[in-house]
Amino acid sequence: MLDVCLLGSGGMMPLPYRWLTALMTRFNGSSLLIDCGEGTQIAIKEKGWSFKPIDVICFTHFHGDHISGLPGLLLTMGNADRREPLTLIGPKGLERVVNALRVIAPELPFPIIFREIEGAEQTFALNGYRLKAFRVNHNVVCYGYTMEIDRAGKFDVERARAQGIEQKYWSILQKGETVETAEGRLTPDMVLGPARKGIKLTYTTDTRPTNSIRENAKGADLFICEGMYGEKEKASKAVEYKHMTFYEAAQIAKDAQVKEMWLTHYSPSLTRPEEYMDEVRRIFPAAKAGKDRMSTELTFS
Ligand SMILES: [Zn+2]
Ligand SMILES: [Zn+2]
Repeated sequence: MLDVCLLGSGGMMPLPYRWLTALMTRFNGSSLLIDCGEGTQIAIKEKGWSFKPIDVICFTHFHGDHISGLPGLLLTMGNADRREPLTLIGPKGLERVVNALRVIAPELPFPIIFREIEGAEQTFALNGYRLKAFRVNHNVVCYGYTMEIDRAGKFDVERARAQGIEQKYWSILQKGETVETAEGRLTPDMVLGPARKGIKLTYTTDTRPTNSIRENAKGADLFICEGMYGEKEKASKAVEYKHMTFYEAAQIAKDAQVKEMWLTHYSPSLTRPEEYMDEVRRIFPAAKAGKDRMSTELTFS
């Protein structure tokens, strides 16, 4: 099961009723954060989730509304006496940018591991899930992220018995591990059926529509996408500033055949995103206007 929370839904600046866009997930005792603008640590507090299990923080890009909250969060994690390493993932230049911000948070009791993304896409194997970064199209280098949790095939008791595999090895094989016995090696494929559908979450913000988003969000259980503008007359602004309108996001959701889409990263001038949602749902019915702390649990079907 994957817990997902859209901590904030604003773009550019935090507002009294809307924190900056950031996503937090919890899986198997480990938490991941994507983006950390000003106030993100307050948004985490408001949600009531713990800082402690955050072991990965990813950045889409280095605009202030996506990273300026990092030094404060690092200090909070340090004050909680964290000792375990923290992995940071982001575009090239990550270590330089973070170390510049860390002039005001120089002494931390935990090590930081930097993983700078190379090229158009890169996949990281993390704590029981895969995280793929893929290049999008903003006015600086920017990446979207897809998180996938695989699900192994069903254990086939008949096959295990037919091959005379002892019951004490079943649970090990079911976990996907190999067993060496006196009679030879036992592998999971000897007892597991074809892989079943896992969980897929895609998050992308600060970008024009791209094929990379359509491909990487394909069939996602949840697609969280920027929608900077709801007003039809701001379509040219979206092109100029390399953002998206609600309708462009909905078209991607439709093309990628995702199960559900949440909009986020609203322009500060956009006070009531709901007003535009009827029109958005005409393009893609399973669309929701993201709100701060909007949450869901994604489970294996
Ligand atoms: Zn932004
Ligand atoms: Zn930006």
